Amino acid sequence: MKAVQLPNWKSDPLLIEIDEPTPGPGQVVLKIAGAGLCHSDLHLLHDFEEGMLPWRVPFILGHENAGYVHALGAGVDRVSVGQAVAVYGPWGCGKCDACGRGQDTYCAAPLDGFDSAFGGGLGTNGGQAEYMLVPDARFLVPIPDALDPVAAAPLTDAGLTPYHAVKLSVAKMVPGSRVVVIGAGGLGHMGIQIIKAMTAADVIAIDIKPEARALASKSGADVVLDGGAEDIVAQVKDATGGGAEVVIDFVGTDATLATAVGSCKYQSDLTLVGVAGGSFPFNLYAPPYETAMRSIYWGTRSELREVLALAARGLITPEYTTYSLDRALDAYADMGAGKLTGRAVITP
Ligand SMILES: [Zn+2]
Ligand SMILES: [Zn+2]
Repeated sequence: MKAVQLPNWKSDPLLIEIDEPTPGPGQVVLKIAGAGLCHSDLHLLHDFEEGMLPWRVPFILGHENAGYVHALGAGVDRVSVGQAVAVYGPWGCGKCDACGRGQDTYCAAPLDGFDSAFGGGLGTNGGQAEYMLVPDARFLVPIPDALDPVAAAPLTDAGLTPYHAVKLSVAKMVPGSRVVVIGAGGLGHMGIQIIKAMTAADVIAIDIKPEARALASKSGADVVLDGGAEDIVAQVKDATGGGAEVVIDFVGTDATLATAVGSCKYQSDLTLVGVAGGSFPFNLYAPPYETAMRSIYWGTRSELREVLALAARGLITPEYTTYSLDRALDAYADMGAGKLTGRAVITP
């Protein structure tokens, strides 16, 4: 089968030919319907030296996956052949406290036999291929009939991660409250839709790209601002009447974090999602008193069911461009060049 491989650290992806996987006991092979590209894949390709991550190259890329059950290993009865399923991406041990909560993102131990792997496309073979091996049927979530499996693929990360961020602060998103969303790309535009679907808060969206600002409006943002404006913090203060109850930064550069801190008021929630690696000085006066700050990573298994249910009801709709597997490297080039609006999804 064809697959998109990370051949080595600090490398461009390769389109390769590799044997189809076969399922061992408890395992499942999917026929991939959609495999999303994530901005974090660009960091994965270019930012890490050998030894910086506890993973071995090469492996097949793609950690946002959905498809149809193709083959079952011995003892699997949770899913049936032909069933449409989404893959919960972080693969924990299933035994520790975090996995017990369905929060494999914070698993204390790697999965047996998976050599510190953290999930398909993240240290072991992922879904940018015709077929994908999933090591335990527990990582499969049924896709409701009303939802296209291709659309379900980006929801497994670009939907799940903002959903987790929103849920952590949803108690503050009361009617009339203000939520600032920084970055209206693959995750941010989903975050805006999720807030509008779940709450009656006002959303102030910020992005430096005109196409992303248009997507923010289309996604339901009440106010859309140009993040490149010199007086962006003053504009946010104006739009929020002095600051927001909740600020979510989907970018994470020094500049966006400065805007995020400037957008808070007393007792705000400030959540960092973006992987750009920026930082900001923390002191007694900034962010404002009693602001609760957190970073997050992905979401829980039960939240993935909830995200798929929201999408099946038509309350959230991911924006994406599809690429055939033969054009997968073009998708990476377009993402690297900042040409995408929303997500890129490979459809083998
Ligand atoms: Zn991702
Ligand atoms: Zn675990």
